[in-house]
Amino acid sequence: MHELSIVMSIVETAEEKVKENHAHSVEEIDLVIGDLAGIDSEALDFAWDSAVKNTVLQKAKRNIIHVPAKAKCLECDCEFEIKDQFDACPLCGEPLLQIIQGKELQIKSMIIN
Ligand SMILES: [Zn+2]
Repeated sequence: MHELSIVMSIVETAEEKVKENHAHSVEEIDLVIGDLAGIDSEALDFAWDSAVKNTVLQKAKRNIIHVPAKAKCLECDCEFEIKDQFDACPLCGEPLLQIIQGKELQIKSMIIN
């Protein structure tokens, strides 16, 4: 399951950060997830619960910040929100889009103690 490997890399990053700061655990973590990142939130919840057991993230409060997908038309340069990466430009109808936002999946911040 793809979500599990994602959560495991988040756990790894969190463990490193806690160690670096000589802290004990993560109190709160903010994750940024783009609408095109291909994350299923139910699968993420499920993976999270099993992956954070006995780690620094076990008791962390998790906040998810969803980022809407945005693209730029390579034909007319306009920028707009999209639902799907194969959407066409609403102005000129060209399907040649460059995704400029919405694929991110990262830790925005962490509160550790
Ligand atoms: Zn266009």
